[in-house]
Amino acid sequence: MTRIDQSKEHDTKVSLERSWQEMLAFLRLNNSDLVRGWFAQLRISDFDRGHIAISPITPTQYVYLQNHCTEAFVQAAQSVTGRLMAVTFSPPASMPEDRYGFGAIEQLSLNEEYTFENFVTGPCNKLAHAASVAVAREPGKRYNPLFLYGNVGLGKSHLLQAVCHEVKGKQPDVNLLYISCETFINHFIEAVELGVVQEFRHRYRNVDILAIDDVQYLANKDSSQEEFFHTFNSLYQAQKQIILSSDRPPNEIETLTERLISRFSWGLVAGIDRPCYETRMAIIRKKAKIKGVDIPEEVVSFLARSIESNTRELEGAITKLQGLAMLGDGRISMDMAQQVIPGRRNGAKELAIEQIVEAVTSHFNVKVTELQSKRRNKTLALPRQVCMFLARQLTRRSLEEIGGYFGGRDHSTVLHATKTIRKQIDDDPSLRATVEDITRALTGRANYLT
Ligand code: ADP
Ligand code: MG
Repeated sequence: MTRIDQSKEHDTKVSLERSWQEMLAFLRLNNSDLVRGWFAQLRISDFDRGHIAISPITPTQYVYLQNHCTEAFVQAAQSVTGRLMAVTFSPPASMPEDRYGFGAIEQLSLNEEYTFENFVTGPCNKLAHAASVAVAREPGKRYNPLFLYGNVGLGKSHLLQAVCHEVKGKQPDVNLLYISCETFINHFIEAVELGVVQEFRHRYRNVDILAIDDVQYLANKDSSQEEFFHTFNSLYQAQKQIILSSDRPPNEIETLTERLISRFSWGLVAGIDRPCYETRMAIIRKKAKIKGVDIPEEVVSFLARSIESNTRELEGAITKLQGLAMLGDGRISMDMAQQVIPGRRNGAKELAIEQIVEAVTSHFNVKVTELQSKRRNKTLALPRQVCMFLARQLTRRSLEEIGGYFGGRDHSTVLHATKTIRKQIDDDPSLRATVEDITRALTGRANYLT
């Protein structure tokens, strides 16, 4: 190879790398739900006028990309090149075969990041976590079935997969099946149509661990419930571990037959609540570390205050921040943080009083119930007045509404509080700094005096 050829090859490599980085930034901004940490290791292996080939590393990654990502990658490629592009994923050298025509694919789709190590525990998920760890340690023995329930985005799938990872790590040849309940139902229907119910049963009843996500989808599916009942019994009798998740407890899944409700409760039913502020902070730090992003503390606390109920949204926000930072100088600013809060682009969505109260109480280390009580001692009066002041500044709630929120105080109390704090801020620089800090954490801006 001549020198020129070599340097040409080098240039091509650099430009492919740059194109991939641009595509990745686009994906992080526009499809943050899809983006996984390992995307950073993907490469463009082939690039000609109308076509980009991406090389995944492992079979798991290949299946994930094939099943979920084609459309998003096509958009990213088109946005980066400004041309109509097709995207294909090059399969890795060895792909496991799919024995029954169904079943094998889903087994592959464990998210590599959903491990116990990457799971943050707090009061909201302590029991669910401890039970999952116990199950992973001794499958089929401790809690069978393990039933986890909670709202969307609170870590149910993460825990289910963490159990699978853990067991697989210790027993690489364990036969485990992790699938969504919808997949179970679809496979069953398909098996009936294709006349391969025996194979279906063979597949589902010969596993060591069956983890089924979102079993609320069994609602109103009589024949699938029936089939699942028998699957359950067969595994249970063989002392194989069953792990289930749902967005609600067993007895609240409509039309679920009594016998399934009762079986689901034989082992342990553990709920997961919304994470509290501290847990959210810890989750953000953990996710940032996994993704290799450096997030300033003030942005961490701003995100933790702004996104309360769904950890998936937190993660999406971090991924978007990563994309924005890559378009700039690599650093993440408060300005960017505001852009990535769902539903609050351009500060459009109003703050809730609860958010203000949460920020203030955690700063002053007092309880919400204390603020709402009639007690008037000074350690409570100040945070209470700061809450009222900020509620006036940052929401459109009336004096009456704000007073009502704080234990039925009347509008003159709120007015008085607002005036008092405004005056004290002028006299006391440290109070001013406190109020500015809280305001910045809530809104990303410090200028509360409107
Ligand atoms: P669910 O299945 O309950 O809807 P997931 O398990 O899919 O929720 O979690 C959504 C996202 O939030 C995932 O990226 C998951 O890793 C993350 N997540 C949720 N709870 C935690 C936690 N306690 N620690 C770390 N990550 C979490
Ligand atoms: Mg889930």
